[in-house]
Amino acid sequence: MDALDSSPPTDFIRNIITADVKANKNDGRVVTRFPPEPNGYLHVGHAKAISLNFGIAQEYKGGTCNLRFDDTNPAKEEVEYVESIKDDIRWLGFDWENRLYYASDYFERLYDYAEQLIKRGKAYVCSLSADEIREYRGTLTKPGKESPFHGRSVEENLDLFRNMKAGQFKDGAHVLRAKIDMASPNFNMRDPTLYRIRRVHHHRTGDQWCIYPMYDFAHCLSDSIEGITHSLCSLEFENNRPLYDWILDALEVECHPQQIEFARLNITYTVLSKRKLNTLVTQGYVDGWDDPRMPTLSGMRRRGFSPEAIRNLCERTSVAKRDSTVDMALLEYCVREDLNKRAPRVMGVLRPLRVVIENYPVGQAEELEAINNPGDAGMGIRKVPFSRELYIEQDDFLEEPPKKFFRLSPGREVRLRYAYFIKCNEVIKDDRTGEIKELRCTYDPETKGGAAPDGRKVKATLHWVSAKHSIPATVRLYNYLFTKEVPVAEKEGQDFTSYVNPGSREILKACRLEPSLAQAEPGNIFQFERLGYFCLDTVDSKPDKLVFNRTVTLRDEWAKIKKRKKV
Ligand code: ATP
Ligand code: MG
Repeated sequence: MDALDSSPPTDFIRNIITADVKANKNDGRVVTRFPPEPNGYLHVGHAKAISLNFGIAQEYKGGTCNLRFDDTNPAKEEVEYVESIKDDIRWLGFDWENRLYYASDYFERLYDYAEQLIKRGKAYVCSLSADEIREYRGTLTKPGKESPFHGRSVEENLDLFRNMKAGQFKDGAHVLRAKIDMASPNFNMRDPTLYRIRRVHHHRTGDQWCIYPMYDFAHCLSDSIEGITHSLCSLEFENNRPLYDWILDALEVECHPQQIEFARLNITYTVLSKRKLNTLVTQGYVDGWDDPRMPTLSGMRRRGFSPEAIRNLCERTSVAKRDSTVDMALLEYCVREDLNKRAPRVMGVLRPLRVVIENYPVGQAEELEAINNPGDAGMGIRKVPFSRELYIEQDDFLEEPPKKFFRLSPGREVRLRYAYFIKCNEVIKDDRTGEIKELRCTYDPETKGGAAPDGRKVKATLHWVSAKHSIPATVRLYNYLFTKEVPVAEKEGQDFTSYVNPGSREILKACRLEPSLAQAEPGNIFQFERLGYFCLDTVDSKPDKLVFNRTVTLRDEWAKIKKRKKV
């Protein structure tokens, strides 16, 4: 049992549901759904909605959660997205069992409902053009005007609607509209369109239909058909709720779910909108939907984020009534917290600097014991080879060290992790460029394991690899995808892409890793000591050409922010 089971989260939605169950509303049943539109890959915002809907179903006795694809808009939907969405939900750790539905499964029933509305005098066929409809709709300050087709008889409407379905009219010639109130302060109630003619191939129904229901009509009725008790959606649908209720009341359906809105998850330095993510993909700002910089679940998975870390973020940010933006550092904190517990420790050098141990015999090598995970004795120890020629990190040496730089410099002694104390005696430079080529050092054989018998101390411990034994690798360092906390354009003519961070990815091709990493499998995650967490890429890595992605650094920005903001 994890923390979620032992202390279920509470929030205003769960309070409502608990009260409903207590009052035996819906016979005490709790049925939720997650209704993605298959027009892109899921992002971490969707994870919030998934955790909420599937989480609630788990918490209440007999509760269930449906997965329903809202595939009413055929032009934008693709089978690829359907499959990726299923993969992502399963990966997050949720299961719809046999409750997989498609709004398109209800096209026949939705059509019947539409006829019913017409027969009840609550819908009419309108033959204004799209532009005219917009014009007639009015503005925020001006009420709309009634359509000249508002008064068509039930018979005429039925006849026209049936002929719309039969393909007698061109796209856009007519629409079906609800007859509500053109003067309503709520735009959604100004005779909204319920059906439109569109000759577009649908990924499931093919060319069977040339009329398609609008979201507002299909959504509430799909919920009702499935016996959903609580229809949870994000805040932008608040103004659609009166229409949701109007349609269900107008049709006197058996099940009238309660729509409850919650705040979307927003995160700094990224965008959570499929439309914008699609722009990043199609305009080549990233390599694809699963680029490790993307806030998509597939991108995060490839980057090395675990489902536990993402679910943890969703829980920590709780469910609120008002929109807010979560610090990216909190997500990274969740990732670190999780990986700290499970990622084995290894050593790798990203920007190698050669070190020659002059008093270590040529041709000799030894195996030193290293601890895989200091936090978990169960993970045991491994052997790392040590020899006369090593690599250390370029950053760990300075010829003229400033005051607080305690790592290696000429004349100074430092510890090599799990190995020996070494001292730098000479710096060898390229005659022409003056670039440092290698360091000449000596080691103290008495300090094996990292401690001096005479008790002398050193101020730094460096990671390293044996030059001869190490394996080459490419390592990709990832930074925030945007340079602005909230990447919305301020100036006209600009858009969010102007804030894409040109330094969001840095590729290091000459890295050297300890030989144990030759056994790593794609998707495995390690802590490279002192550097961060790194995941063997599932797409680009080959056994003889390893590619690691930096999941997250070790630096805990969040702890600093926490201190500053006192949260
Ligand atoms: P996007 O704006 O990214 O396209 P969407 O809302 O159009 O998102 P849908 O596929 O319609 O995407 O969303 C499925 C469900 O996920 C909806 O119920 C929606 O409210 C919810 N959802 C989408 N984005 C977020 C988010 N950032 N935070 C919480 N819930 C979200
Ligand atoms: Mg949507």
